Amino acid sequence: MNTSSDTGFRRAGRLDGIELSEIVQISERAAQLRAGGADIVALSTGEPDFPTPNHVIEAAHRAALAGQTRYPATAGTPALRAAIASDAGVEPANVIVSTGAKQVLAGAFLATLDPGDEVITTAPFWTSYADMVRLAGGVPVVLDCPGDQGFKLTPAQLEVAITPRTRWLLLNTPSNPTGAIYSQAELQALGAVLERHPHVWVISDEIYQHLAYVPFTPFVQAVPELANRTLIVNGVSKAYSMTGWRIGWGIGPAPLIKAMVAVQGQITSGACSIAQAAALAALTGPQDLLAERRDEMRARRDLVVAGLNAAGLDCALPDGAFYVFPKTPAQMSVDHEFCRYLLDNAGVALVPGRAFGMPGHLRLSFAYARQSLEEGIARIARTTAAL
Ligand code: PMP
Repeated sequence: MNTSSDTGFRRAGRLDGIELSEIVQISERAAQLRAGGADIVALSTGEPDFPTPNHVIEAAHRAALAGQTRYPATAGTPALRAAIASDAGVEPANVIVSTGAKQVLAGAFLATLDPGDEVITTAPFWTSYADMVRLAGGVPVVLDCPGDQGFKLTPAQLEVAITPRTRWLLLNTPSNPTGAIYSQAELQALGAVLERHPHVWVISDEIYQHLAYVPFTPFVQAVPELANRTLIVNGVSKAYSMTGWRIGWGIGPAPLIKAMVAVQGQITSGACSIAQAAALAALTGPQDLLAERRDEMRARRDLVVAGLNAAGLDCALPDGAFYVFPKTPAQMSVDHEFCRYLLDNAGVALVPGRAFGMPGHLRLSFAYARQSLEEGIARIARTTAAL
């Protein structure tokens, strides 16, 4: 096979400006350095270090042995759809199960965006949002929400950003990368703006719902009158330590779900049947682990925030998820330069804020063992002190 770069290969125009996410690039570089013998503390990836619970793995095993090995129903297995629906107080026709929350989002955009349609979202944002919108032919409209407004969208910002082409407002609560959680009152204030613009629908990505250190209000609970134009996105990846199983779901109006199922039918034929059996076991099995894991994450959050502030980085206390988003040190304020320097000189992998649409910051994931966090922070402190 010709492996040179001169193969005449031509990428589709829709990929213009779209590359492997910077998070993946950094993780790969950290793995390379580690393979070369370097002592690397990677705090760059958003996945819990806890194992998938045993009863979930056993359910997958049983499902495979019982012959649940054929093409699943496109929208999701009836049992998992029913469990998600009953939990949310909706009908199974309001639920789609996909290959991770990521595919729910991609499916929603593919099913609804015509070229030039706009999706309003906030910066900092989870890296994939803007590129997913672009891949589907849409235009991301990114509103800056800096730390002095708690990294959250204000009703005034939303009001002026809405145009006749706006199809979606995409919210993420609790947020990756800031951990920000919208309070009930804040959601209601955004809802009041949306009431005046009935053509705008809402995606609320609530995948970190169970990792909240303050009260968490789901969007449709705060603004039930908008439920008929809201898609809730959730999944088992973060709460149940099941990132590799690739199961997420969307809950929304039946015509939207039907359109998303049509997309899914042409792209994947539905999510892995065995992983769906595992997700069902996670949702219907013992739930104590959610609180236990959340409490451990809270302790790690406190350790990390105290350590980074002591090291001279300006780091706010996040309300949810497992990320902190401190400012870059003043001595080396270009975020990606600092990240590169830190990786090459201290062996610590963090992600620069520019990957989330907000340069001048760093994202550190605290979904790692305390020992790694302590070591990482000690190295960051030594590095910044020597700048
Ligand atoms: N939304 C957000 C905000 C995320 O951080 C992630 C994972 N990093 C996802 C969605 C995707 O999760 P999944 O593993 O279910 O595809």
